[in-house]
Amino acid sequence: MKVTYLDNNATSMPAPEVTAEMQPFLTEFYGNASSMHDFGGGVQRYLDKARRQVADLLGAADPTEIIFTSCGTESDNTALFSAIRSYPEKRHIITTRVEHPAVLNTVRYLQSQGWQATYLEVDQDGNLDMESLRRSVTTNTAIVSIMHANNETGVVFPIEEAAAICKERGALFHTDAVQSVGKVPLDLKNSAIDMLSLSGHKLHAPKGIGVLYVRRGTRFVPFMMGGHQERGRRAGTENVPYIIGLGKACELARERLNDENTRVKALRDRLQAGLLSAIPNAKVNGANARRLPNTANISFEFVEGEAILLHLSDLGICASSGSACTSGSLEPSHVLRAMGVPFTFAHGSVRFSLSYYTTEQEIDLVLAEMPAIIKKLREISPFGRSEAAAKSCTC
Ligand code: PLP
Repeated sequence: MKVTYLDNNATSMPAPEVTAEMQPFLTEFYGNASSMHDFGGGVQRYLDKARRQVADLLGAADPTEIIFTSCGTESDNTALFSAIRSYPEKRHIITTRVEHPAVLNTVRYLQSQGWQATYLEVDQDGNLDMESLRRSVTTNTAIVSIMHANNETGVVFPIEEAAAICKERGALFHTDAVQSVGKVPLDLKNSAIDMLSLSGHKLHAPKGIGVLYVRRGTRFVPFMMGGHQERGRRAGTENVPYIIGLGKACELARERLNDENTRVKALRDRLQAGLLSAIPNAKVNGANARRLPNTANISFEFVEGEAILLHLSDLGICASSGSACTSGSLEPSHVLRAMGVPFTFAHGSVRFSLSYYTTEQEIDLVLAEMPAIIKKLREISPFGRSEAAAKSCTC
């Protein structure tokens, strides 16, 4: 069965150009980049090239601001731990209610260790409460970590403005840009952002490679201690093939940024509009906010998101739901809850996330299949038969 892959915010297909670029470094050129001999040490210039390709995509002033890590999660952890270790006298952290667990669970852990935390709220469109940010940053704030784009809804936060507020008040600013890099232009050299996380597998590089951007002059304490790699900022033998793959992926993302914001966005808009017009009681979460061009998070009232996904999966269509099914109880997503999405909608949410490789035919297929799936599920769902039954559920 042909796979229709509309789950690119979960992970994306490694681009053929990326895997081709990596191949020689998985076979012939396996030397250690730290070696004195040319066979290994010669690889260093390819790492330098990749560092520049990443810096160019981010609009960073200097490639030395790029630290290669193993993933977005490591980058987020490194940023938060570095800040609290660099400013041990500051005991306050600010983040948002809708962050990825890589940030949320790290902040919760730090809270359990005695740090104070403020979680900024979002409104019903998913927009951040900037007034609350202004009120919350104090001289006791070590770091403010606000994601650039939300992985579930695609809502984009005004991080440049947030970073400027933090700079004025002397707090470090970090952004988790795992979902936005390659979809939203960045110009870090002209911003007040101190640290930024990205992840290779969200932009057509393989899983297992990430980056933490750290502005020159920012106080920094490494998370991984050991050897001198990455100028002593991230120990561990460099993952040469993956770094080279990520560099190529960043070069491609830069070339494709325009396509992402025109063709891909038009496909996403057609998908949204088509589903809303064919299916009653459906709504786009974050419809009135600035959003990533590739993401549509749509709630279908009185059905379970998971049931929709299983029906789609039978047709080879890959998407995600905003809720997690654990031990028989369905928990609506923390993001949709923070937006105040009503229970009967929050449970029936599906995220479609497109990419450079998405075609018109794939969108046609989803538009052709979804109305019948929802109709069938509503007929058999206790939620479909009774709104009261849905509201009486305690989960
Ligand atoms: N941050 C966001 C916003 C994400 O969407 C993800 C992955 O889904 C991560 C962080 C974690 O990235 P990684 O899978 O590279 O650890």
